[in-house]
Amino acid sequence: MKPLTEQEIRAAFVNCTKGEAKRLSVPRDLAERPWADLDFLGWWDPKAPERAYLVTELDGRPVALALRSSGVAPSQARRSMCSLCLTTHTGGVSLMVAPKAGKAGQQGNTVGAYICGDLACSLYVRGKKNAGPDGRLHESLTLEEKIQRTVANLAGFIANVTAVANVTAVADAKAVTDATATA
Ligand SMILES: [Zn+2]
Repeated sequence: MKPLTEQEIRAAFVNCTKGEAKRLSVPRDLAERPWADLDFLGWWDPKAPERAYLVTELDGRPVALALRSSGVAPSQARRSMCSLCLTTHTGGVSLMVAPKAGKAGQQGNTVGAYICGDLACSLYVRGKKNAGPDGRLHESLTLEEKIQRTVANLAGFIANVTAVANVTAVADAKAVTDATATA
């Protein structure tokens, strides 16, 4: 993906308030991140250990999500698979939950996904980071196809986070219209 600035990232959050997006921790070393090898940039909040964030590009525009870990520590012995990049880790996959965008999120609705605990999916897919001997499936897909699959999985996750918000927005608009009609 193309490199993003701190301002672009803060402006891209879809599932937290503007105030939260302004205050949350954005990495200081953005210029040194390997953007060319990233389908998304993910990072943990150094000030709030259960919080993490990711930013990606959807239809040419940056989209960022606020996430938090489910609080369930992964068992060291348990092998689980990342739902984005399909890398298997022993004890290294976190159940992350994203508050839904808009009103649904304010009411406590979340969407969950199992994601590589270090949020380095892009690097596992490209073989730039090693998840151990059984970390990656042996597949006949090309690298490009694996990247596309990861991007599609992430887009699906983001769609789940934002989907109901649109429905709610429509419902709200209708409620306003109805209220106006009766008034
Ligand atoms: Zn992953």
